[in-house]
Amino acid sequence: MTEKEQLQVEAIKNGTVIDHIPAGQALNILKHFHILDNNDRITVGFNLPSKANGHKDLIKVENVRFTEEQANQLSIFAPNATVNIIEDYKVVNKRNIDLPESVTAVFKCPNSNCITNVEKTAVTNFKVINKNGKIQLKCRFCEKVFNKEIVTDNI
Ligand SMILES: [Zn+2]
Repeated sequence: MTEKEQLQVEAIKNGTVIDHIPAGQALNILKHFHILDNNDRITVGFNLPSKANGHKDLIKVENVRFTEEQANQLSIFAPNATVNIIEDYKVVNKRNIDLPESVTAVFKCPNSNCITNVEKTAVTNFKVINKNGKIQLKCRFCEKVFNKEIVTDNI
């Protein structure tokens, strides 16, 4: 890690840093995970230089610790993201994320006839299918299968 990258990661005292997000996906993540709904201080970097991918986005959320489940759900948007838990300016937990088996209460079902859209209180749940690297999401309620972009773009 270069000195510059270290500064980007360690600039908050306590919280979560999501690094190595594909450029352009940070806004999607902020919306779907309702990160902006709280009063936590959030810093977002767009199009930061990245050795691996050319450009990347980065999100820092103060005073919020992402659970392992939340971290794994990020991989729908950012398969190579790293989630760093920060305590007292130090990274206390750095993990690579794995594709989850399912995603609960993050995405709306694109099927307008789906019970989750008819009864607004129903909590959505999608089974995650990895078809040779192509990610599909299957709604547990209407059982329709969608390419992940259709689900993630449906806000
Ligand atoms: Zn559905």
